[in-house]
Amino acid sequence: MQFSPLIEALIQALRCLPSVGPKSAQRMALQLLERDRAGATHLASILQQSMAEVGHCASCRTLTEEMLCRICSSGRRNPKVLCVVETPADMLALEQSGVYDGRYFVLLGHLSPLAGIGPDDLGFDQLLEKLRTEPVEEVILATNPTLEGETTAQYLVELLSSLPLKVTHLARGIPLGGELEYLDGGTLSRAFSGRLGFASVKETNG
Ligand code: ZN
Repeated sequence: MQFSPLIEALIQALRCLPSVGPKSAQRMALQLLERDRAGATHLASILQQSMAEVGHCASCRTLTEEMLCRICSSGRRNPKVLCVVETPADMLALEQSGVYDGRYFVLLGHLSPLAGIGPDDLGFDQLLEKLRTEPVEEVILATNPTLEGETTAQYLVELLSSLPLKVTHLARGIPLGGELEYLDGGTLSRAFSGRLGFASVKETNG
C-alpha cells in the first residue's frame, strides 16, 4: 500500500535531510500531519524564508542573511589574524570555544578531486584578495585533520608562500580524522594555543 500522492511527495521531500532514510521520513511526515500541524507550518515558512534570504558573507563567505556577518562587521575583532576553516559549523565551534578573537575565512569545503572540488570552488581568489587588502599578519589554517583537510592546508601553504605573512596550523591535539565542529572547547583551545608555523614559509612577523 502507498499513501496518497501528496503524502508520498512529502515523505520523499523529507529525505533530502541528512541521515534521513525512508522509514524516518515516513515517521516525520506522519508525525507532522497527525500531531504537529502548527510546527510543520512554521517549519515550512522558516525554511522558505531561509532559502530565499540566507546567502554568504561578502567578506568571509560564512552563511548569513546580512551583507556582512556579525564577526566581519564587528569592530572588536583582531584584524591581524585570519583563521581559515572548512565550514560555517567549524567557525561556530571555534567561536563557542572562546579562544579566538580574530577574523575568519570559510572555504565551504575542501579540495577533493574525486568530488570535483577544486581551488575555484573554495574561494581561494577571494582569500588572496582579502589578504592583499586587509592588514592580516597571521593566517591560521584550521582545516580538519582528514586527508582532504590536510591536502587543502598544504595547497594553501604553497599559495600563500609568496605573501609576507606568518602561516600557522592548529597543533595536532586534534584526533586524526576528527572534525573541528565535534571537538570540545578544551581540545580546541589547546590546539589553538599550540599552533605551529610552517618551516617552508617565509615568516616576516615571527
Ligand atoms: Zn563574515
